[in-house]
Order: sequence, then structure tokens, then C-alpha cells
Amino acid sequence: METAKPQGITAPQVCDLCDCASHQVFRTRGRGDSHLATVICQNCGLVYSNPRPSEEENADFYHHRYWDAYKGKNEADDSFFNRRLPKIKSMLQEVTPLLKPGVKLLEIGCGVGALLWSIKNTCNGLGEFVGVEPHSGHARFAREQKELNVHNGLLEEVYGKLAKSEFDVIIMNHVLEHTISPTGTFAKLKELLKPNGTLVIEVPNVEAPGSRLSHYFHIAHHFAFSPKTLQRLGTKGGFRIVKIEALDGDLPGTRLLGVFQKVKSLKPDLPLKFIRDDPDARADALEQYERWYWTTLASLRKKITHWKRQRN
Ligand SMILES: [Zn+2]
Repeated sequence: METAKPQGITAPQVCDLCDCASHQVFRTRGRGDSHLATVICQNCGLVYSNPRPSEEENADFYHHRYWDAYKGKNEADDSFFNRRLPKIKSMLQEVTPLLKPGVKLLEIGCGVGALLWSIKNTCNGLGEFVGVEPHSGHARFAREQKELNVHNGLLEEVYGKLAKSEFDVIIMNHVLEHTISPTGTFAKLKELLKPNGTLVIEVPNVEAPGSRLSHYFHIAHHFAFSPKTLQRLGTKGGFRIVKIEALDGDLPGTRLLGVFQKVKSLKPDLPLKFIRDDPDARADALEQYERWYWTTLASLRKKITHWKRQRN
């Protein structure tokens, strides 16, 4: 079955991270055998979909089709919310030391609000806890059932309503890879953060996809970051890199955590030209990872689940 995709995809674009137009095409198919060109930037080694949809097409996708196409479930309810709780534990732990009394915190892509609600509870409600969520059903559930302050829309759409230089902490938990322009997103987040405010990001790690590549590359994931390319994004955005580390998921190192701080003036540790992946080495490493993946028990378990589903 081919996965639904954003319509009317535009012409090939330059790399969002370094503006280089030159890339190598790595794969031409994504999850569900969808038409999806995944390329590797010849300059900085960023792995990304090219072409990507326009902002309008992306907005339409997230407002109306994302959850049906990608998650197979559109309705927000308590059981859906409860299933989210174990998945946000690691991010909750990461953010907890940043939760000072009266903290002002913003989560971009908060979904039904499992993480935001957990953070608010951790703080006994003392502070401001704001969410942004494009899916209207999920945003409504978070507002009405969980009494959270959630704006319905993409960051670009609700940006004007958000107070600037107000937030101590901003979180994006597996959301950045869905944006059309991570550099544009980082610029907005910097405006929203207070001086010395902290940005906490988690994304999939392209160094450890955790699945076969034809499953990993997905129509809704426009970018696949490595520690280096995530570092480059933060440095380009003028943030101090607090830490970038790989965390384990079903398989080792499948998640990538980045913590960035908004500082007044900054001399980066390294010039941008040195913060890059070698594109050929990235392509080789991905191929090698896939060969290794097929030897893991995790791949066997996924195969069995897949067969069972097909039989039913
Ligand atoms: Zn690049």
C-alpha cells in the first residue's frame, strides 16, 4: 500500500543546512514503497528528502492527513493519551532539571499533550505550559480533557500569537524532522526563547536508523540528522551546544538528543565548514547499517509481526 503524501511537490531545493545545491541521490523509495527521493548533501552530508513539499502543502498534510496516513489513528482519547505516556518518559527526565519554579515552557508538536501534561504535573502546575499542535483533534483533546494551553496550528501559523523572548525552555520531541526548514524553525525558536533559555530536541539518529532503510525513509520525515549535522544546525542558528548525544531505543543509538542554549554573543568552537559529515562515508555507513540490521533479533521480531499482520 502506498502511503499518502503531500501533493504537488515542487522542484528540487538546496540543502537547508548549508545552501548547497549539489547532492547525491541515495534512495528513490520510502516507507510503504512511496515515491520519495532521499539525497545526501555533497557539502555538509545532511540526509534529506528532495524535493520537499511547500509550506502550504506541508500544512495541509499535517492538518488533515498525517495521523491517518502515518499513524493509522486519528481520534484522540484517553487510551491513546495513556499509550503516549511511556514514550515521553525519557524526554521528561531530560527536561526535569530545567523546571525551575514559575518556568515558562513551550512544546512544539505536543500532540495530545502527554509530555506537556506530565511536565505541568511535575511542576505542580506552577509555571506556564504552552503547546503548539497542528492536528485539531489532538489540540482539542489536550485543551479540553487535559486543561492545557495549546494553540492549534503549525509553528509558522501560530508564531504571531506566541510571546517573544518569554520562554525558559522549548521542546521538540521527534518533530524537527517533520519541519520544512529546520534552520527557519531554529531562528523562530531563538526569538521565542529568553536569553540563556534552553532548547531541547530529540530526533531519529541517521547513524542508527533502527530499521531497514526502505522503512526508515518516510514521506513525513524531511530530514535525517546525525550528531554532526544536528550540531551544525545549532551552531548555524547561533546557539551554544550544551550537548548532543545518541540514546538507545529498540536498538542502540537510534535517538539523538540535542540541547542548545540561547546566548548573547557566541564564538563557536568550530567554524561551520568543519561541522559536516562526509557524504560518501554517510552513504556507505547507511548501507553497512542495513546489512547489520538484518542480522539483529529486532529485525526478526519485526518480520514476524509483519507476517502475522499479513495473515490476519
Ligand atoms: Zn548541506
